[in-house]
Amino acid sequence: MSGQDGAIRRIAIIGGGTAGWMAAAALARVLGPHGPAITLVESEEIGTVGVGEATIPPIQAFNALLGIDEDDFVRATGGTFKLGIEFVDWRALGQRYFHPFGVYGIDLGAVPFEALWRRLHAEGAAGPLSDYSICAAAAATGKFMRPQPGNTPLAHIGYAFHFDAALYARFLRGRAEAAGVVRREGRVVDVVLRGADGFIEAVTLADGGRVEADLFVDCSGFRSLLLGDTLGAGFEDWSAWLPNDRAVAVPSAVTRPPPPYTRATARTAGWQWRIPLQHRVGNGYVFAADHISEDEATATLLANLEGEALAEPRTLRFRAGRRSALWVRNCVALGLSGGFLEPLESTSIHLIQSGIARLLEMLPTRAFEPADIRRYNRLMATEFDSIRDFVILHFHATGRRDTAYWRRLAEMPIPDTLAERIAIYRRTGRVFRETDELFTKTSWLAVMDGQGLTASGYDPLGAALPLADARAALDRIGKVTAAAAAHMPPHQDFIARHCRAPR
Ligand code: FAD
Repeated sequence: MSGQDGAIRRIAIIGGGTAGWMAAAALARVLGPHGPAITLVESEEIGTVGVGEATIPPIQAFNALLGIDEDDFVRATGGTFKLGIEFVDWRALGQRYFHPFGVYGIDLGAVPFEALWRRLHAEGAAGPLSDYSICAAAAATGKFMRPQPGNTPLAHIGYAFHFDAALYARFLRGRAEAAGVVRREGRVVDVVLRGADGFIEAVTLADGGRVEADLFVDCSGFRSLLLGDTLGAGFEDWSAWLPNDRAVAVPSAVTRPPPPYTRATARTAGWQWRIPLQHRVGNGYVFAADHISEDEATATLLANLEGEALAEPRTLRFRAGRRSALWVRNCVALGLSGGFLEPLESTSIHLIQSGIARLLEMLPTRAFEPADIRRYNRLMATEFDSIRDFVILHFHATGRRDTAYWRRLAEMPIPDTLAERIAIYRRTGRVFRETDELFTKTSWLAVMDGQGLTASGYDPLGAALPLADARAALDRIGKVTAAAAAHMPPHQDFIARHCRAPR
């Protein structure tokens, strides 16, 4: 069969967490009622990881692909809006910075904003980066609105969402089932391979049922039932760079209007997230078990909640890294079955989305063209690796030396690709976005500067404007940014007006 041409007739998605239902909803929507039959197998007994509640702006494209009305989506998932991430105590105890979405500054023609800012900063004539970001300015005052047309900082508002993971899966399930996806409850106990070529032929369920397909999408979570367990795809372990291997999570009560950003607070052996939703706050302490005990991490988490805990704390175990190939034979892994990085920059859901988009771009026939598979694997590996470097940057470029954990991270050798970026930044303050990589210049600049990296010089393009003009340009950007943020409504008012969840 694998040598024959012909359209895929059946797709089986194994797993009904965020990855499974995102894949089901998107494939059904794009491939349409005359496309392949799609079955999703999930086991209530096993359940889902149930975390994963902060996102990044490309999710807007996923919603658009599915024809989702954003207000309906926010309402249905108890969601809030996110303008970036506040990092507390990462550079040094008592210091904080904001990684905003959107861009710094407004259009300056050929002169990159960061070149101008760096030059004036060196001369003591520039404020902190946050002064020039509409997202940072709005976050600082708890404001939110969607981008507005025109030559104004309001046109550069970048945003994403916080949402309840369980409600999100339910929301997507509704859409997927309405589009024809068939859900099959059951626990997969065996994976049957074809003798001829080792392709997956079927999965067998505990109740004796059997689900056959041409294409299998492994969304089985950390277990990686098909790609890892059955097809033996190797695992590239990144724990030498990203030693956190556990998280303890707990929801807490809402005590104040939800801020329009995620907060990540560095702790003695890891970091704590705070994700504001309409009906609760998501919290978790991500830590390295060889530096702190689970009991101590849990106690630290509980001592640092803003409201009362609403459930018992729950511990999750993981290992940072990715499968060496995410597509093997007729199986593509999406979500945790393909790999996992620290949730620090909220990139896992994005990687699911990106895997789905590429799968659609390289949708196979039953011939399963090896060149498509190679290309898919190459592009996904590159994306994972550049995100890995960005995440490592936060841990490595730190002034903290107060615990063994931080000393270890500050002193560890880092990937060459990241070392090169840091070296370039240290000379000229230059930041760049490699082809197609997820994080923009804004992100790299925010975190390099926020973590305390300094540059000995500045990009020669920063000298393209006469000093007085450069000062005036930056001054104007700062002023219009502050004025624009003042014009925005409070985040909670925006939610109340457009997308308040039913209580
Ligand atoms: P799961 O949710 O584990 O789903 C696996 C599915 O497979 C389940 O339905 C299960 O029942 C099914 N299954 C497994 N074995 C079998 C079997 N034998 N038979 C039948 N069914 C089976 N991502 C973000 O983007 N933002 C975040 O803020 C974020 N925070 C995170 C925090 C932590 C601590 C962790 C661990 C992850 C976080 N993530 C985050 C990642 C995010 O949670 C996951 O990427 C996302 O939930 C996808 O999970 P999944 O669907 O791959 O796996």
